[in-house]
Amino acid sequence: MIANRIRQARLAAGLTLSALGEQVGITHTAIQKYEKGLVTPSSAQLLKLARACGVRTEYFFRTHHVELQQPRFRKTTAFGKTAQEALKIKIIALAEKRLELLGAFPDSPLLAFAPPAGLPERMGCLEDIDRFSDQVRNAWQLGMDPIADLTDTLETLGLLVIVVDEAHPGFSGLTAIACTEDGRTYPLVAVAKGWPGDRQRFTLAHELGHLLLAERLADGPLDEEKACDRFAGAFLAPCVAVRQLLGLERHTLEWAELYMLKHEFGLSMAGWLQRAKQCDVISESAYLTLVKQFSAKGWRKMEPSAPFPQEHPRLFDQLVYRALAEHYISESKAAEILGIPMMRFYKERQLESLDAVADQ
Ligand SMILES: [Zn+2]
Repeated sequence: MIANRIRQARLAAGLTLSALGEQVGITHTAIQKYEKGLVTPSSAQLLKLARACGVRTEYFFRTHHVELQQPRFRKTTAFGKTAQEALKIKIIALAEKRLELLGAFPDSPLLAFAPPAGLPERMGCLEDIDRFSDQVRNAWQLGMDPIADLTDTLETLGLLVIVVDEAHPGFSGLTAIACTEDGRTYPLVAVAKGWPGDRQRFTLAHELGHLLLAERLADGPLDEEKACDRFAGAFLAPCVAVRQLLGLERHTLEWAELYMLKHEFGLSMAGWLQRAKQCDVISESAYLTLVKQFSAKGWRKMEPSAPFPQEHPRLFDQLVYRALAEHYISESKAAEILGIPMMRFYKERQLESLDAVADQ
């Protein structure tokens, strides 16, 4: 078991056999023997291996194995096979901690993910997607207001959201089914940590679209990618809110208006321009004029002024403390799942100032 985990940790760290050997001070063949299970590393060696791979030693012993089934990458060709494998391993390591925590509860604290009942079976046009999104929001009691934290909202509904450290520009999202050894399954969506918040949110909403719409679009007239983009826009900024905030009929829009709405709803300015057209607030020609100006300013590459803050999921951290309070997990397990040293964990648990710890 340790053998395979060493290999996974090495691949996730993007290290070759010899690169890892060099850092640990042994030959690449010695590493290979560890990975094949021919030799078991001493605890001193394990500590060195963990440091070199950027994991905690517990990683090598973790018993909750998670498998990613039907992984679907959203990526460019530049994001090759090796990068995909390394990323999958990183995502699995994060998913394992979460599923171990959920497994410690006698009853899952989250819902089992399921599309709301009674939704239409077929989508004939893009306007149907807007109505569909409103029905989904209603069924999940989200109302028509901005969704403050999409990550926590989706996780409460039973979707596993993994925010992973991946800087490769070719990566734009991953969906999969995470399966545990004891047969639990969760739909999983991964987005990159470094993206602006509006991009993370649009990707999450788009992937939610795939989960809810895939079967409803099969053999229909709509392109699945376009339908999921439409769903993402509608889910983040419902038509009724768009019309209320922009007005029913406009000649044009002000940039500052779009900027403020971006920050209220966590949907990009470009996304708001599209929503204005989709909800018939502006005409097709007004839209095209605005898009041309928007591009000329270089805003398609990077939108102006402050970016929308990244998602800051709190649900899992909160569940760690809930599990701790009910004695489902130990203090050391809590610190391990949170990925922080014991000392810092004690301070955080007591809500003590962390400045002293940070200075050390
Ligand atoms: Zn898609």
